[in-house]
Amino acid sequence: MTDPKSVAVIGAGIFGLSLAIALRDRNYEVAVFDRSQYDENGYDPTADDVQAASADHNKIFRASYGKEIHYQRLALESRRAWASEDEKRGSTEQDDGRDVRLFVNSGMLRIQPFDHLAALEKETLANMERDGLRDTQFVKSDPADCERADKLGWKDKILNFRIPDSESTYEAVLDSLAGFVRCSNACAHYQKVAVDKGVKFHLGPQEGAVDHLVKVKSNLEPSKDKVIGLKTKDGVVHDADAVVVAGKSSREIFLSPSPFTHDFEAGSFSTQILPELSYHLESSAGSLGTFKIDKSNTQLWDKYSPERFPVMTWKSTPRDTSGKDTGSIYVLPRTPEGLVKIGYRGIKWTNFQPAPQDTPFTQDGQWSVPLPAEECSLLPEPALYAIKQFVSIFLPEFENTPFFSTKLCWYTDSLDNSFVIDHVPTYAEKSVFVCTGGSGHGAKFLPVLGKHAADIFEHGDKSSSPMRSFWRWRPDAPRRNGLEEGPGGPRDISHK
Ligand SMILES: Cc1cc2nc3c(=O)[nH]c(=O)nc-3n(C[C@H](O)[C@H](O)[C@H](O)COP(=O)(O)OP(=O)(O)OC[C@H]3O[C@@H](n4cnc5c(N)ncnc54)[C@H](O)[C@@H]3O)c2cc1C
Repeated sequence: MTDPKSVAVIGAGIFGLSLAIALRDRNYEVAVFDRSQYDENGYDPTADDVQAASADHNKIFRASYGKEIHYQRLALESRRAWASEDEKRGSTEQDDGRDVRLFVNSGMLRIQPFDHLAALEKETLANMERDGLRDTQFVKSDPADCERADKLGWKDKILNFRIPDSESTYEAVLDSLAGFVRCSNACAHYQKVAVDKGVKFHLGPQEGAVDHLVKVKSNLEPSKDKVIGLKTKDGVVHDADAVVVAGKSSREIFLSPSPFTHDFEAGSFSTQILPELSYHLESSAGSLGTFKIDKSNTQLWDKYSPERFPVMTWKSTPRDTSGKDTGSIYVLPRTPEGLVKIGYRGIKWTNFQPAPQDTPFTQDGQWSVPLPAEECSLLPEPALYAIKQFVSIFLPEFENTPFFSTKLCWYTDSLDNSFVIDHVPTYAEKSVFVCTGGSGHGAKFLPVLGKHAADIFEHGDKSSSPMRSFWRWRPDAPRRNGLEEGPGGPRDISHK
């Protein structure tokens, strides 16, 4: 078995870009394929042909991960890398008036469900303590923390909110390590970095959209197929020693037309290109809404600026009089365009549809797939209700303001919220590698994720990455994380 030298990466989102750069740094010839014309649309989330989770104005950066100290450490490694990349781009923390920073250290206020600390919060604080970072966290009710926050200039971001129908206020913890990343800008930047390093990009609905993988029987492992390249929608076959699937399990990307030949014709979607992924991943949707602040409204413009307003998250708990759950919700400071984005992830929606025949894992013959883009602008009622509650408590100025935009944005959830980054064992000669399963928290890792993934790509079980055991192919892992619910479950919008 020879080590692969040329690698075709499918997907130029965060996972694909990050790995492509890291593989190029290890001297592989790397070609990246994406159906979006990113070199022209610059990952603009409002462009017609853009539907990737990675293309967004902003995503939260946090190192707070409860008990999962390995992700806490990875986030801190990534934080250093964001800062260094921003420095290389000539932007420092002080000059964000130009809005060019990719990582913005606005801080994040973790608002608790009640007037005291929740269990997860205590775990996060304990792990921060363990890594010598407790000083970066400020508990609202702790006088010593507040004094330290004052000295360090963070106190104004420890905001106080009254619990409805009560005399108490919500407990909260300000995390001065956190903030957000300008996701689309970051992708556009790293795409150029990749080009400069010699990564080749094939972009667009014909040249870049992958139709299927090209397989042959392996001589070395005769019971298995070996992938020797891929075919794009324009009919061109691209040879590669290994193919990386770095995208979501959308209905298009993983379907191959014919189960009977090794080089498929486009047309019938009867078998998946990577059928094994149907067990490991599920497409589900988060609900996003934005309000727009006009620059002439200087009071709101300033109040919600990253300089004055932190990212805020609020954990789910039943709290209104009818006991309804308003879910887990977050809001980010306004963008340079004046957009204040609110995300509801209390319920991640599924859309179950009949799965193609021969899909090895289905639930009642169905699987969840993203809705077509044109059906993603309406939010389900429970999401609207939850956002409304959130706004009335935490963003009162917007209580009667109509949304500027609403959107369902599709996650690729794994069995346990950890990514799936490994060779696919059913293919011979390490010819297929997956780098996916972002599960709603992958964006913050863009600058470093690929380095760990490339090490796993090269060394498998001998990889020195501390993430190896968490990201491995795990066919025996139980289906949890909501993936067990299936069609007709409480999150399934297609059966409502
Ligand atoms: C609502 C929501 C909120 C989130 N919030 C956060 C957050 O606050 N913080 C954080 O760190 N992370 C967050 N995430 C997670 C983060 O966005 C993802 O982990 C990350 O974007 C996943 O990147 P990806 O490259 O795997 O997938 P994607 O961004 O989906 O990229 C996949 C790419 O594959 C391409 N593609 C699809 N089909 C084909 C084909 N046939 N041929 C070629 N290319 C194809 C697509 O065009 C796309 O560019 C959030 C995700 C969602 C959905």
